[in-house]
Amino acid sequence: MSSTANRHMPSLAEYEPIVGRSAIEDLRALVTRLAGQRVVMVNSTRAGGGVAEILSRMVPLLNELGLRVRWEVIEGSEPFFAVTKKLHNALHGKPEVITPEVFELFLEVGRRNAARLAIDDEVVFIHDPQPITLVEKRQAHPASRWIWRCHLDVSRPNRAVWSFLEPFILKFDAAVYSSAAFAQQIPMRQMLIAPSIDPLSEKNRELTPEEIAAVLHQLGVPQDRPIVTQVSRFDDLKDPLGVIDAFLRVRRSMKCQLVLAGGSASDDPEAEDVLNRVRERAKGNPDIHLLMLPPDSHLEINALQRASAVIVQKSLKEGFGLTVSEALWKARPVVASAVGGIPLQVKHRYSGLLVHSVEGAASAIKQLLNNADYAKRLGENGREHVRQNFLLTRHLQDYLLMVLTLGSAEDVVYLKG
Ligand code: UDP
Repeated sequence: MSSTANRHMPSLAEYEPIVGRSAIEDLRALVTRLAGQRVVMVNSTRAGGGVAEILSRMVPLLNELGLRVRWEVIEGSEPFFAVTKKLHNALHGKPEVITPEVFELFLEVGRRNAARLAIDDEVVFIHDPQPITLVEKRQAHPASRWIWRCHLDVSRPNRAVWSFLEPFILKFDAAVYSSAAFAQQIPMRQMLIAPSIDPLSEKNRELTPEEIAAVLHQLGVPQDRPIVTQVSRFDDLKDPLGVIDAFLRVRRSMKCQLVLAGGSASDDPEAEDVLNRVRERAKGNPDIHLLMLPPDSHLEINALQRASAVIVQKSLKEGFGLTVSEALWKARPVVASAVGGIPLQVKHRYSGLLVHSVEGAASAIKQLLNNADYAKRLGENGREHVRQNFLLTRHLQDYLLMVLTLGSAEDVVYLKG
């Protein structure tokens, strides 16, 4: 079941009833100051994971606003993405063995992509470390402005990896992080811009109970008992085994079922191994549904989130954690680890429950399953918090303002000169 075929791409005017007319007018006013500029977004995958999710929604709207925005994806072999995954983990502080060959392959693939991609746009956004070496190309276009949009928490990185990347990072005009807590001490302009979700996308739009029931039926998830769900790539840092362990504790005393819905991103080679371990842990338990979904399963994820009594995000490390905003926007009660950007979204006992362990997660899930009024209140607060802070229109505004503050090419020369 795929939801891509007849996906409706909403126009800006359709956001007005959700965010108010002035938010849309502000965007139109801002963009006149950047009229005609060409912007390119570069990342490492077109589908799977939060960055691709955001770009797929943001690029069409920026074009509608009048900027000329394209989206390029770097190409790499399987070993390259094994390397970038290692670097990703190491930047998150996970112990990894990084050999000189790892860095060499990273540079080699970077050179090949630099030769393949024409980048002569006025504004260049490089998302995350994978395409970072493309910044070498800016010498050919001194008037361009380059932004490193880092979606990771690099506050406690593996030092060798950071030292390797830092000379590239310093060549950008600005580094943008999702949270103040993610940044590094580096002598350059650093900015904070939280990511966002699109309330009108197939993943987040309102669904009727009939639509939800039809999807759950097709996925083989019965609605006869409460559903506890985690939506995440099968990645150890998302702790799917911990989710199962927490669920098993809850299940001892309560009738409920667990859905682990995930897929893999094309830039994530570890998923298969993680999934095998998850299958082993869940083996034979009729209350645990493991759903391997194709990357365009937006409607399916939407319906699963809406059908859930509790949504869990038990990550060990996290970037921003878009799945949390997705759940809160649906006014679902959330139990989530206090890592990465999650505490920006979940205020403990106000818009969800923050936890630090398997036991803590189990007890929070039980509390919410047992107390429907409290769960409902947390969910409603969460929805309002997302409306105010984490919707796409706010994100577009922040990006436009940032580009404006970086100034025009002449300003940059003047400031430097
Ligand atoms: N997602 C998806 N299919 C999956 C798993 C995740 O579409 O099988 C989506 C999820 O709904 C969210 C994004 O991928 O929009 C994950 O973003 P997040 O920031 O939570 O984590 P990341 O994968 O970027 O670490």
